[in-house]
Amino acid sequence: MRKLLCKIKGHQFESIKRYSTQVKEYQCSCCKQKYTEDGYGQIVRLTKYWETNNLLFEQHFSNRTAI
Ligand SMILES: [Zn+2]
Repeated sequence: MRKLLCKIKGHQFESIKRYSTQVKEYQCSCCKQKYTEDGYGQIVRLTKYWETNNLLFEQHFSNRTAI
């Protein structure tokens, strides 16, 4: 039912502030699915692949700013 609503109205994205860098993650307040932005600024489902990717990106960045 909730997913159907998302299909009709679109997802209600709320940004999740998990990272200090530009990495953006969102959660739909309706269906509770997580999303992120790929390298092209497109919103994609936050899969294990993207979770790892974002984490590496975050670590890479915080290492650089620490120097
Ligand atoms: Zn949704």
